[in-house]
Amino acid sequence: MTEPKKKQLFGTNGVRGVVGELMTPELVMKIAMAVGSMRPGTVAVGRDTRTSGPALIEAAKAGLMAVGCDVVDCGILPTPGLQYLVKDHFDAGIVITASHNPGNYNGVKVIEPDGTEMDDENSIAIEERVFSGTFATKGWEAVGSSRSAPDMFQEYVDGVVAKVPAGIGKGMTVVIDPGCGAAYRTTASILSDLGCRVITLNAQPDGRFPARNPEPSEEGLAPMADLVRSVGAQFGVAHDGDADRAVFIDDKGRFVEENKEFALVADAVCHGKSGIIVTPVSSSRLIEQIGQRHSCTVDYTAVGSIYVARRMRALLDAGKSVVFGGEGNGGLIYPNHQFCRDGGMTAAMMVHLLSLKKETLSSLVDNLPPSVMLKHKFHTDKAPAMIQAVSKKFSGDKINTVDGLRIDRADAWALIRPSGTEPLVRLYIESQTEAVVKAFEKEILDCINPIIA
Ligand code: MG
Repeated sequence: MTEPKKKQLFGTNGVRGVVGELMTPELVMKIAMAVGSMRPGTVAVGRDTRTSGPALIEAAKAGLMAVGCDVVDCGILPTPGLQYLVKDHFDAGIVITASHNPGNYNGVKVIEPDGTEMDDENSIAIEERVFSGTFATKGWEAVGSSRSAPDMFQEYVDGVVAKVPAGIGKGMTVVIDPGCGAAYRTTASILSDLGCRVITLNAQPDGRFPARNPEPSEEGLAPMADLVRSVGAQFGVAHDGDADRAVFIDDKGRFVEENKEFALVADAVCHGKSGIIVTPVSSSRLIEQIGQRHSCTVDYTAVGSIYVARRMRALLDAGKSVVFGGEGNGGLIYPNHQFCRDGGMTAAMMVHLLSLKKETLSSLVDNLPPSVMLKHKFHTDKAPAMIQAVSKKFSGDKINTVDGLRIDRADAWALIRPSGTEPLVRLYIESQTEAVVKAFEKEILDCINPIIA
C-alpha cells in the first residue's frame, strides 16, 4: 500500500505562518494562482483585521486575476460570512486570516463553491501547483477583473437573523467582545436585529489586537466577564480573529467551557428534531447525553472542523437526518444554515436557547450532567508504540480508531491521539466522577509511562 500523501503547507484549517517568514505576499499570490487555476470563474476574497491583511489580500487578488479569475473583494468579514457569500454567489473564495493565532501570524483559507473549506486531497493539489509553479496564467485578453463589495457582509447578517424566530432577543442585554477581529460589525448587528440590547467592547477593528489575543481564552475575557456582571447582561459572547468560533460568559461572569457550550446549544438546535449530531472523537460525552433528550445520536469523526462538515454532508447525501455538528472549542456547524463553523450563528443560537428555556445561562450550565475531564500532553516521538500498547491493553473495551484511539466504557471514555504536525501525543479522559476519571487515568498511564520513560 502506498502511503497517503501528506499536506506540507496546509494545516487543519488552511495555511498559517508568521508574517514576513512563511507568510509572504509571494506565497499568497502563488496559492491564489493555484486556486484560480483549479477553480476558474468569479472568486470572492475577504480578510480579518490583521495589519498584514491589506498587503496579503492584494497579493491574492493579483494571483487570481493573473490566472483569469474575476475577483470580488468583500473586505473585512468573518470567515463564515465569506463562506455564506461563496455558497450563494461565487465559484470559490479565499480568506486571509490566521484565525485565533497572534497578530504576527496570517494565513489563507480556501473556500469551495459550496462554502465548505477545501478538503485534504484538493489542498495537496494546490500545494503541488505552488511547488511546481503550474498555473493557468493568462495573456492580456483573458486576465481577470476586480471589484469591491464592502457591504455584501450584510447578506450574511440577514441570513443568520432569518434562521431564528424574529424578536427573540427582546428584553435581553448582551455583551459582545469581537477582540478587535473580523466580527466587529457582524455579531452586534445580528444580536441587535434579534431585539437584544447590545453592549460591545473591543469592537474597533485593530490588527494589533491591543486588548486581548485573538484566541478567546478565559483569561483574555476577564474584562468582558466584569462588564457582563456590572451591566447585568444575560451573557457575553466573544470570538476568535475570524469569528468562526464563539465562546460565552454566563450571567454570573463565569467562562462557559466550550464542550458545555456545545451541549447547551445542541439542546436548542435539536429541540423538536431527531437525527444525528456529528463531532470529533475528542468531544465530551455531554453531547451524547443532551442528544438522547431529543432522540439524537452522535457520529464521531477525526479531529478537525472540515472532517465534521464533510461527514455531515455525506450523511445527508446518504439520506440521513443530520441535525447539528461541531467541535468542543466553540466551533459549531448548523446544517440548515451552512456547512462550516459559524460564530455569529452560535451567538444567535444562544439567544434562541435562553428564549426557549426561560432560564438563566448560569442555571443551564449548572444543570448540565456532571463532567470531569482530564487532559495530558506528552512531548514524545513514540506515538506508534503508545497506541499499540494501549490498544493491546484495552482490547476488551469498545475501541474507535477513526483518529488516534478512543476507548468507550459505560461510565467513562478516553482518547489517546498523536498530533498530525508535531511530536506530541494528547490524552483526554472524561467521566461523571473524579474517582472514575482518576482510576481510568491510572490504568492508561501505567500502560504508557514505561514507553515514554
Ligand atoms: Mg477561527
